[in-house]
Amino acid sequence: MKGFFQKIGDGLRRFMQGRYGQDELCNFLCIAALVLVLLSWIPPLRFLYVISLALLVWSLFRCYSRNISARQAERAGYMRLRGKCTGFFALQKRKWTDRKEYKYFRCKKCGAVLRVPKGKGEIKVTCPKCHSETVTKT
Ligand SMILES: [Zn+2]
Repeated sequence: MKGFFQKIGDGLRRFMQGRYGQDELCNFLCIAALVLVLLSWIPPLRFLYVISLALLVWSLFRCYSRNISARQAERAGYMRLRGKCTGFFALQKRKWTDRKEYKYFRCKKCGAVLRVPKGKGEIKVTCPKCHSETVTKT
């Protein structure tokens, strides 16, 4: 029996050699497809079933693709987008936990998020990114 599973494992390893395999984007596509399948049970949203199938086919295509550089570029784009989303929510969470002690605002010149202690009156803040000075009330 061990020889049988060994042969299957070796065959799979040979098949996947030179192929891209699974990554974070594949996982996201599979989860999105699952959510869309569940939503497609609602009668007016039946069309989502087709979209979920397309996402699954895309995910499988990416897994078995031999064009690794193109798949890595797609993954890099996905990770950049995901980083922006998680960064936004992390900032909102930090703002909420610090809301009594700190004030958050954006630098008018470069858009960087700055944090100053509350209750200090009018203070001059230097942006650490672009070194522009802003006077603000805290
Ligand atoms: Zn700035």
